[in-house]
Amino acid sequence: MRILIVEDEQSIAELERDYMQINGFQCDIAADGEEGLKMALENDYSLVILDIMLPKMDGFAVLSRLREEKDTPIILLSAKREEIDKIRGLGLGADDYMTKPFSPGELVARVKTHISRYDRLTGRTLRSNVLKIRGLEIDRDARKVKVNGEERTLTAKEYDLLLFLAENPNKVFSRDLLFDRIWGLEAVGDIATVTVHIQRIRDKIEQDTQNPQYIETVWGAGYRFRA
Ligand code: CA
Repeated sequence: MRILIVEDEQSIAELERDYMQINGFQCDIAADGEEGLKMALENDYSLVILDIMLPKMDGFAVLSRLREEKDTPIILLSAKREEIDKIRGLGLGADDYMTKPFSPGELVARVKTHISRYDRLTGRTLRSNVLKIRGLEIDRDARKVKVNGEERTLTAKEYDLLLFLAENPNKVFSRDLLFDRIWGLEAVGDIATVTVHIQRIRDKIEQDTQNPQYIETVWGAGYRFRA
């Protein structure tokens, strides 16, 4: 999930970003209102944290322009209570308001609340489509695999086999079952195919294939993905 922070005070923007990142959000920062509006219109952010006093274009203007096109959740930040009262009075449609100085923990809590509320209203799913297991990342949308941030190229069957195991961690699957699942009952080949594919996957994702940390061999039984 990606959040846009529109804030001209760099130290505040960085503080917000750090707290968001610790909580698993990715962040972009815009340092003035014009840039913030442009970025908010061009990207699909999960939420925008918007300061009111900004160079080039203030938060009021950004909010009203953005609302003409998008219903992205917005949390307004202001140094002055009166500004927030003014915004409420104008009915500009921010989802929440906070005054500076604010507690970063409180900001994070509100961000999470508004994102999940928006997701419920729009039916957008909260489930991340990236499966992360220690250094291994499996992106189910892009069908891509990374190890410690580096992409590894897997064949379609290697990917299917890895994903099946990773989605069903800590369970032992026999070679027969894996062959049926991944290659299908009608497929030509035999269970040795599974062994070969497991070995190729290990070559690509394991640091030490003799001592695999992801796909373990369970002697006489099959394979198990360690979560
Ligand atoms: Ca400001």
